[in-house]
Amino acid sequence: DVLRSIEPGTLVVAVGPGASGKSTFAAEAGIVTVVCLDSLREQIGGDAGDQAVTPAAVVEQNILLEKHLSEGTTLYLDSTNVEARVRAELVERARRHGRPVVALRFLPHLDTCRARNSARPPNRQVPGDVLAWQHSLALAATPKALLAEGFTAAHDIVTPL
Ligand code: ATP
Ligand code: MG
Repeated sequence: DVLRSIEPGTLVVAVGPGASGKSTFAAEAGIVTVVCLDSLREQIGGDAGDQAVTPAAVVEQNILLEKHLSEGTTLYLDSTNVEARVRAELVERARRHGRPVVALRFLPHLDTCRARNSARPPNRQVPGDVLAWQHSLALAATPKALLAEGFTAAHDIVTPL
């Protein structure tokens, strides 16, 4: 399967809108080293959904990426990564360390994301327009497009509804 095909030292990048199952996948697959932007926001500002601390959380995320890439730890980056500009930085960072960088795209139907999103605690809900925007960007990030961006491999993760 996909996870077994991943070489040690790989930067594994989740790509998917809010409530698409990125964190659930990591937990269920037993992925050990996870860098998660939500958790960093929680650690920094006490609230995983507080976008005001995103810049500080991204700084911390990049420090952790550097650490794991230089040590060669396989790492799962659990953030949305739907913007090409954000992914370009990740590809570049992995390349500087000579590490493979693999994308896993999570893309349930928008209605499914919406339903899961509304079932979450209020501070963890992504606004509806943001969710739709993230979803449309993730739709465009096909495995073919991700390979063209420089990813070593790109897979669609299909989770049961
Ligand atoms: P975010 O980017 O906002 O952190 P996420 O992509 O990490 O979102 P999860 O938190 O993993 O999304 O999942 C969102 C919700 O959907 C959770 O309540 C989770 O329990 C549920 N969920 C995830 N995967 C599935 C699935 N395969 N079947 C049913 N429910 C699921
Ligand atoms: Mg999550």
